[in-house]
Amino acid sequence: MSTATVVGGGPAGLVAAEVLAREGVAVIVYDRMPSPARKFLLAGHGGLNITHSEDREPFLGRYGGSADRLAPIVDAFSPQDLREWCAGLGEPTFVGSSGRVFPRSFRATPLVRAWLTRLTELGVVVERRQRWTGWTEHGLQVTGPDEATREVRGDVTVFALGGASWPRLGADGSWVDLFARRGVLVAPLRPANVGVRVGWAATFADRFQGTPLKHVALTVGGHTARGDAMVTRTGLEGGPVYAIGAAIREALDADGLCTVEVDLRPALTLEQLTERLRRRRPKDSASNWLRRAIALDPVGISLLREANGSVPTDPAALAALVKAVPVVVTDTMPIGKAISTAGGIAWSEVDESLMLRRLPGTFVAGEMLDWEAPTGGYLLQASFSTGVVAARGALAGLGS
Ligand SMILES: Cc1cc2nc3c(=O)[nH]c(=O)nc-3n(C[C@H](O)[C@H](O)[C@H](O)COP(=O)(O)OP(=O)(O)OC[C@H]3O[C@@H](n4cnc5c(N)ncnc54)[C@H](O)[C@@H]3O)c2cc1C
Repeated sequence: MSTATVVGGGPAGLVAAEVLAREGVAVIVYDRMPSPARKFLLAGHGGLNITHSEDREPFLGRYGGSADRLAPIVDAFSPQDLREWCAGLGEPTFVGSSGRVFPRSFRATPLVRAWLTRLTELGVVVERRQRWTGWTEHGLQVTGPDEATREVRGDVTVFALGGASWPRLGADGSWVDLFARRGVLVAPLRPANVGVRVGWAATFADRFQGTPLKHVALTVGGHTARGDAMVTRTGLEGGPVYAIGAAIREALDADGLCTVEVDLRPALTLEQLTERLRRRRPKDSASNWLRRAIALDPVGISLLREANGSVPTDPAALAALVKAVPVVVTDTMPIGKAISTAGGIAWSEVDESLMLRRLPGTFVAGEMLDWEAPTGGYLLQASFSTGVVAARGALAGLGS
């Protein structure tokens, strides 16, 4: 009987284990945590957005520079396949109003419970609290909770160690050095889908932390994203911030600072805004003027003051400011607070089956590969798809 070692029990590793075990391979999964799939379970807390229903082209476009490499991988295990897989575990999915796909229960817990039962039935063994700490001459070194090390071997190996966000859930990026020492090119791990730091005045932060800037558009370097951005004590977070995260990182790398332009009224043109702002009543305060003329809420009005020091009295100048409030971002929040990780094992290091060119018989999957995507179900989809493709590659290597 062929044997496989899977290192990392997140969605990418567990789906690889399932695919291998279905073909009769004896699979042992090693995970450093007391239980597997902790990040997957956390992802379910706010509503498990497992994939997205949009068409193939825009879907793949979400992976930016990795779209070409991920296209055949996502085709091999598509959003529809993932939805059927969920249904097979007793969790049919539905499409939310934004096109995002969720399991019926909205959570990951029932799915993970059913999945682990299925894996046990397939003979998959999950060894918990077992940390992979490097290679031995003929196998892998695994360290237990007592710090005792042992060698484990399989005919093939799939690594699915995740990125470095939320390290207390297991994935801490400590694999990077180990792979780099084997000559594997790893792009530095960076925070993705993460909040940004802004040096708000204390009065602004005190009053508005936790308040959404509703229906705004954020722009950096030609990249624009719309949605609700949340003001935090230390900056901004939320969908549109995450969506332009790569452009923010690029600007910060180049200049040390990054100015995000916030359009507080993206649905109105500059001309329409100017026209409306011309209708100021003589006794209107600036706040009343902005509220009556263009329906700006208190957080929007204060953001104008925060960024500009004052509210311009000239309607055209004020309209221009409303369309592009300059907010200076000084940094991203640290990777530990990010939803996902950019960077990872370079695509040039793996073949189409996700086998490492330098380590034949060793495959990699999930967030440890160098791709990134916005929130919306794209992260889990790519984690599952790469897990399936790596396992199929491993099966081909075993001659199954
Ligand atoms: C708060 C939050 C919400 C999210 N919500 C969503 C969402 O709604 N939709 C979506 O698509 N994505 C979401 N994500 C992202 C998604 O959870 C990840 O992209 C996905 O879990 C990555 O899967 P993975 O298997 O590659 O890595 P992980 O899930 O990180 O799994 C890696 C596993 O490897 C183990 N491991 C690491 N190092 C070692 C080692 N040395 N030895 C042994 N084991 C090791 C870890 O313990 C872990 O179990 C969310 C993430 C967070 C943090």
